Amino acid sequence: ELYLERVDRLDAQINSFVTVTPEAALAAADAADRRLAKGEQAVLLGVPVAQKDIFCTRGVRTSCGSKMLDPFVAPYDATVVERMNAAGAVTLGKTNMDEFAMGSSNETSFYGPVRNPWDADRVPGGSSGGSAAAVAARLVPAATGTDTGGSIRQPAAFCGITGVKPTYGRVSRYGMIAFASSLDQGGPMAATAEDCALMLNAMAGFDPRDSTSVERPDEDFTAGLKANLKGLRIGLPKEFFGDGLDSSVREVTEAALAVLKDRGAELVEISLPNSGLSVPAYYVVAPAECSSNLARYDGVRYGYRCAEPRDLTDLYTRTRAEGFGAEVKRRIMIGTYVLSAGYYDAYYLKAQKVRRLIADDFRRAFEQVDVIAGPTTPELPFRLGEKSADPVKMYLSDIYTIAVNLAGLPGLSMPAGTVGCLPVGLQLIGNYFDESRLLGVAHQFQ
Ligand code: GLN
Repeated sequence: ELYLERVDRLDAQINSFVTVTPEAALAAADAADRRLAKGEQAVLLGVPVAQKDIFCTRGVRTSCGSKMLDPFVAPYDATVVERMNAAGAVTLGKTNMDEFAMGSSNETSFYGPVRNPWDADRVPGGSSGGSAAAVAARLVPAATGTDTGGSIRQPAAFCGITGVKPTYGRVSRYGMIAFASSLDQGGPMAATAEDCALMLNAMAGFDPRDSTSVERPDEDFTAGLKANLKGLRIGLPKEFFGDGLDSSVREVTEAALAVLKDRGAELVEISLPNSGLSVPAYYVVAPAECSSNLARYDGVRYGYRCAEPRDLTDLYTRTRAEGFGAEVKRRIMIGTYVLSAGYYDAYYLKAQKVRRLIADDFRRAFEQVDVIAGPTTPELPFRLGEKSADPVKMYLSDIYTIAVNLAGLPGLSMPAGTVGCLPVGLQLIGNYFDESRLLGVAHQFQ
């Protein structure tokens, strides 16, 4: 009731929710009460949460921030939703996001932009900007996000919260609307590393319904929270501290790194020589996969359908012309182009080779260090509208986060400090399946 009241009172200014489900939430809270009374101990029992509107929720609109799916009510729950509900979570509703998770500012949403709770003239980051803003404004203690190129970590940084992008394959993608399937990964967003660890305990695990889900023994992500930093080798990629990094972001990042050094960690300069290629490689691979994934929105099976189609071609073309926003169309066109005969080798195949080089850089780095650290974003949260006219400028918002997705590694952003009232994030990158260690480092600040 407390959180629903806050959503009701404050979200008109922030616009972080696209759907609020108060009756279902109160019923779930009652059910959680009954389970508690019986002495049950599920990890999220009675915890209010919000689901990014990319996760299918049975009987509730699942829009993915798009006019195309505005009329879509999912007939089933995503695995993440199912697992969190089983763990006792009380879902308050669905959070706003960039259309089909394409964006870094939450301005491409069909439902209007989300505002940063720390400064309403600024963006909350994206694409999981609704989840980040809702957690930052204390409208909900925890929310889910998805991260294809930075969409959990960048909004977490901009809103001053913690967000974890798990190792690819750790969290099931079943029922999570696909953008770029080889990069997409769901994860937790909450105030602290400890809260994220608890959420991840509920979210992660093998799922036979996702062919890329990894079968591993269950892990308790809170186990490493109290780890000692003595002797931990933290690599600082020199490419993440070069030109283009705002000086105030650099200062706050360096101050946070000094705290880790004080606690006994050893800071080592490393190099990820191909990281400069990550944005161009991503903007070939991600649009290619998106153009294929978004082919399913044809006005026939579900979602938006144009009025009075003349014939099948008219149905397809008008449905897609009217249902998708400008950024989504741009990606579909680029993706179709790089996959087409004659261009495939020059763009798509080349990007896949670069992707391997980027993963190799990380492999070599992790022979030297245990964790990699640096800024999450090159700049402070920017003003609404500041980058919307220039897609390339917008794409550079993810310059430090994208390589992690191309390699499939786990990454996290945690609050490092502030510049005025604006939050700055510290990014921690780990080796495959080393989320617990990242959470342990982040927990040192609490
Ligand atoms: N901003 C990046 C993009 O627009 C990443 C988005 C994401 O991680 N979903 O593609």
